[in-house]
Amino acid sequence: MLSIQNFIDGSFHHAADGEFLEDFNPATAQCIATIPRSKSVDIEPAVAACQAAQSAWSALSLDQRADWLDRIADALEQKAERIAQLESMDTGKPIALSRRVDAARSVSNFRFFASFGREQSELTFQMEDAMNYVHRSPVGTVGLITPWNLPLYLLTWKVAPALLMGNTIIAKPSEITPLTANLLAETLLELEFPKGVFNLVHGLGPEVGQAILEHPDIKAISFTGGTETGRIVARTAAPMFKKLSLELGGKNATIVLKDAELDKAVDGAVRAAFTNSGQVCLCGSRIFIEASLEEEFTRRFIEKVNALQIGDPQDENTNMGTVISPEHLMKVESYINLAIEEGGVILTGGTRAMTGYNGPEGIGAYLLPTVVGNLHYTSRCATEEIFGPMVTLHAFTSEEEALEMVNSSEYGLAGSVWTNDLERGRAFSAQIDSGIVWVNTWLHRDLRTPFGGVKNSGVGREGGRWSLDFFSEMTNVCIKKHDSN
Ligand code: NAD
Repeated sequence: MLSIQNFIDGSFHHAADGEFLEDFNPATAQCIATIPRSKSVDIEPAVAACQAAQSAWSALSLDQRADWLDRIADALEQKAERIAQLESMDTGKPIALSRRVDAARSVSNFRFFASFGREQSELTFQMEDAMNYVHRSPVGTVGLITPWNLPLYLLTWKVAPALLMGNTIIAKPSEITPLTANLLAETLLELEFPKGVFNLVHGLGPEVGQAILEHPDIKAISFTGGTETGRIVARTAAPMFKKLSLELGGKNATIVLKDAELDKAVDGAVRAAFTNSGQVCLCGSRIFIEASLEEEFTRRFIEKVNALQIGDPQDENTNMGTVISPEHLMKVESYINLAIEEGGVILTGGTRAMTGYNGPEGIGAYLLPTVVGNLHYTSRCATEEIFGPMVTLHAFTSEEEALEMVNSSEYGLAGSVWTNDLERGRAFSAQIDSGIVWVNTWLHRDLRTPFGGVKNSGVGREGGRWSLDFFSEMTNVCIKKHDSN
């Protein structure tokens, strides 16, 4: 069992009051680590460390900071297998997924921002009689708060651009998945990364998370998590005029138009629905099918879902592991019960996956992938974010009707459209109220593009220049030319 500590000013510390929390493996229900239950008193030394480190870090050139990002990427790449193992143990996700997505992307976040940073040139605007120079300076100390579904992937997506732009950091990972954030801190210590630039505090959201939001010397908050928590973040930090980036929940649509290539659409819809047990913010949990395809699509979709291998996350062949915790399992189950009350029909799944592979004591948080038909698109199960292995199917008879159904959601994060007519797909996608739409693919990411949601899915964009903009203050210097006469 690991005894994890906060990482402040380049060294590891317990919470000031010595309190700690336990971290469990959802596949075995075993306690795998303890973490500090930090409070506001633990934020003070982290802020002090940031302030002491700020000027030397921001005095480095952008290229020097990009070199640091590359060094961090190299070191994490050496530990890719360890990252995958820790992430799988902490979240219950399959080891193969952890390697392919979590470990790989945590490395590429640093690599991408290093090379993207080096490509940037100074922004200038010429006038007839003057020249404008846009200057970027760091925001200062920034707070990075992240969720449990893609722990290191989402943390490094914020850490890399924040460091690149010369900021100092106080990071708080989810209290239920702290292991890889700790590994990042250990890696920075091994690399002799400048002390105080990156600080990590563990603990509960309403305690240490809230203390980060409230601290007057933390100038920006980049938050990824649920919409309700996002409201608290906004309510606390906005009146203090902190910069805010809010990446929140979703209820994403997969839309199968009548000219879709069915095999590809089915594969894509299954992947979008059940990757990471449906616990990716981009997962497509509402599937809209053109009515003439409904029967055939549903038959093939269920066949594919039933072929998913649910089981031990450590098994290379497992496609779906557990959900994040027993509490979350019960939440998803309550939605399955609600679906039945709402008149839905469970087409497959609907129960815990009980035999053979639910841990030595039979207590792993395994749930069968669940597909529900016959629900109205405005029902609670089809509109509320469940964030688990449960999807609803809906038929439509025209594109107008499909758009009406899809856009009725209060969320607007992502979606995918399946069609053989790419122009039609593009025109249709542009009418979806959503930050990201994929045509004939899902979770196909170019890190230069804007990432973020509309409506209750968030405010602001991450990725490429949007991350650089968030993690810097832009100021303009306008220089009047000498008069020529
Ligand atoms: P959550 O909102 O419960 O927690 C997210 C983080 O916020 C955690 O670190 C938590 O400790 C912290 N927190 C909680 N209360 C806080 C408070 N009062 N002040 C400060 N911090 C606080 O979310 P979760 O359950 O960890 O993650 C699942 C949610 O995240 C889902 O809604 C999912 O859609 C969303 N998500 C969104 C994206 C995206 O990019 N839009 C990506 C991944 C996950």
